[in-house]
Amino acid sequence: MKNLEFDHAIIGAGCIGSSIAYELTRRGFRNNVIIDNGRKTVSATASSGGMLRIFHENIEHVDLALGNFALLKKYQDRHIINEKQEPNGHLYFFNSRRYPQYAANFQKMDSAGYAFEILTPTTGRAKFPQFNWADNEWAVYEPLGAHLSPTQFADDLLSTSQKSGMSVVDDFEVDRICHFRGHYKIFSQKSSIVAKTVILAGGARLLPHLNDLGIGNSLSSQKLTTYHLLKKNAQLVLPSYFDRETLDFARLGPGETVILSDPQSTRLKVKIWTGQPTEVTANDCYSPNRLGFAGYLMGQPRMMLATGWGGTAFKFSLEISQRIGRALESGHNERSLLHA
Ligand SMILES: Cc1cc2nc3c(=O)[nH]c(=O)nc-3n(C[C@H](O)[C@H](O)[C@H](O)COP(=O)(O)OP(=O)(O)OC[C@H]3O[C@@H](n4cnc5c(N)ncnc54)[C@H](O)[C@@H]3O)c2cc1C
Repeated sequence: MKNLEFDHAIIGAGCIGSSIAYELTRRGFRNNVIIDNGRKTVSATASSGGMLRIFHENIEHVDLALGNFALLKKYQDRHIINEKQEPNGHLYFFNSRRYPQYAANFQKMDSAGYAFEILTPTTGRAKFPQFNWADNEWAVYEPLGAHLSPTQFADDLLSTSQKSGMSVVDDFEVDRICHFRGHYKIFSQKSSIVAKTVILAGGARLLPHLNDLGIGNSLSSQKLTTYHLLKKNAQLVLPSYFDRETLDFARLGPGETVILSDPQSTRLKVKIWTGQPTEVTANDCYSPNRLGFAGYLMGQPRMMLATGWGGTAFKFSLEISQRIGRALESGHNERSLLHA
């Protein structure tokens, strides 16, 4: 590739990068590029369960998720995202002692008119007898909790962006970024790309390189494994679940596979799969208290970072991108963390 010059370069085309790509396109920014190497294989997005729910432990993130929920519907109605989530419900199990710290979050969901129920062991066992409920365990049940195909979601956003002129460069492994005379030069072994603004959305693969760029950060990456299993009874539809205390999760819905994080989990009373699990492991990016990081980086003019919503990025990516789009449009270039 020749030396190409762009206004914005997004590094990373996982769920965050592809959402930002679409947001730039939607805002009429032209002359942009999204760069990746391995989005279908090594990204967190490619191994993700793609589960969507609104509840989050942090109250600001409940707002983000509600905004994202509305955007997802809007983009689906307009056929920008053709991937449709399957709303088979979601259960978030937590120790009942946490309830007081979650009460305001539930109030927010209620005020927004979003349907949910708090289940105690008694009501939970009656409603979902297929699950094991411990005596000190409550759950928030979201009937609209859903999951989507993560790579399809990213592909839909990228293909709409590409049709509107976004350059999509696969097979470009970024190994260095230099700032020179008001521009960034992004190098791979074979070529380079120049951009005025760089948006780092490379997730856990890019994280170690931030230090090479002189960007100190408090983000860390964590390995997550999912197991894909063949489903025995395709008619049996259960809510997907996440267990706050054990971090065990499973995506259960119609279709051929069940995705879960622990094949030995005792959460489900029924065995609904057969065969050997296929193991898929990927790194995901976490920030302290699981609050993401989106904003300009100190000491790096016109460089943004968007990462750190480990385990929950799908319920935020469109809304986060909208906030990034707004910041780019307003032209502010200060150290403003949109969420930290
Ligand atoms: C096993 C697992 C299950 C999960 N389940 C869920 C779930 O059910 N619901 C949910 O909301 N979230 C879930 N998550 C979390 C979610 O998938 C991630 O937080 C999200 O995909 C991160 O997206 P991202 O775009 O930030 O990073 P990534 O998807 O990792 O994308 C980053 C991209 O940048 C590219 N890249 C990085 N460095 C370079 C470089 N130097 N040169 C070129 N390209 C580069 C990578 O190839 C990659 O394609 C799960 C994560 C894992 C790992």
